[in-house]
Amino acid sequence: AIVVERVSKRFGNFQAVDAVSLEIASGSLVALLGPSGSGKSTLLRLIAGLETPDAGKIWLTGEDATHRQVQDRNIGFVFQHYALFKHMTVRQNVAFGLEVRKVPRQRIKQRVDTLLELVQLQGLGNRYPAQLSGGQRQRVALARALAVEPKVLLLDEPFGALDARVRQELRSWLRRLHDEVHVTTVFVTHDQEEAMELSDQIVVIHQGRVEQVGSPAEVYDHPATPFVMGFVGPVN
Ligand code: ATP
Ligand code: MG
Repeated sequence: AIVVERVSKRFGNFQAVDAVSLEIASGSLVALLGPSGSGKSTLLRLIAGLETPDAGKIWLTGEDATHRQVQDRNIGFVFQHYALFKHMTVRQNVAFGLEVRKVPRQRIKQRVDTLLELVQLQGLGNRYPAQLSGGQRQRVALARALAVEPKVLLLDEPFGALDARVRQELRSWLRRLHDEVHVTTVFVTHDQEEAMELSDQIVVIHQGRVEQVGSPAEVYDHPATPFVMGFVGPVN
């Protein structure tokens, strides 16, 4: 599980994340949903270890990871603008984390084949990122994140820049992938439909605080606060 315990983060005088507590069950697919500027990316970056909290603790699989380096957290991440390496082929991009870890060549080859199949990009391994569509690039980014078998996968609006049809395709594809791989996944979105359709649990965030945590049905049918009602509910 991921446990966030009264975590706060300030930028200057601005409280971006305000004493957030949260528990994310192992193997679940959870959406952080909230408007622009509500602190979603900051919270995700805190979990990843890309930001240090001013206060509070972050536990990963039962261990206090608050002061652990990013590379020691066993996390894969995909950010909207976290580009692929342009000078590397698809295969080289996916293999990158394995090369860094000095995995034997033959193992890397097998693992990359498996991953390319998983993200349905068999046959495109020798292309460069510039020769792929946006949706294909995001799938390469996912394969790269999954390559090192992370315990946790963090996605910050991974489909945000894509057109509606491709987004829709990748959504249902991510759901299927998750059902196959079962990696604990937290994804950020400001799109309530995306959160509803994709997640087991929705965490609604507003002004750096958690407004509600619940299944899509709970959040939709029983909004806990006026904010949640306005943001998620039918009168939108
Ligand atoms: P969006 O949906 O627009 O991506 P968000 O919910 O991801 O928004 P954050 O990126 O977490 O929001 O930012 C929360 C607040 O913290 C914003 O007001 C933002 O301007 C501020 N903020 C984030 N990072 C920094 C930083 N490095 N320095 C100063 N302010 C920051
Ligand atoms: Mg953001």
